Amino acid sequence: MPLYEFQCTQCHREFEELVFHTDEVIQCPECQSQDVQRKISLPGIPAMKAESVPTFTGSCAAQGPPCGPRCARFADG
Ligand SMILES: [Zn+2]
Repeated sequence: MPLYEFQCTQCHREFEELVFHTDEVIQCPECQSQDVQRKISLPGIPAMKAESVPTFTGSCAAQGPPCGPRCARFADG
């Protein structure tokens, strides 16, 4: 669910709100002001950083000899 952080520009209260529609009116829970700003968040960033492990799979012919010291077959196991 799209949970966003907001900050009221009137009383500066920070709060979270579920936003289902982009045109939804967000109200400050403290002063009921609609003058709120959505804080910049990165909802799409996963918690864990995926390591960029280079893969050599398919870099050499399966029937032939290993293509070198970094051949994918040596990486197995
Ligand atoms: Zn407020």
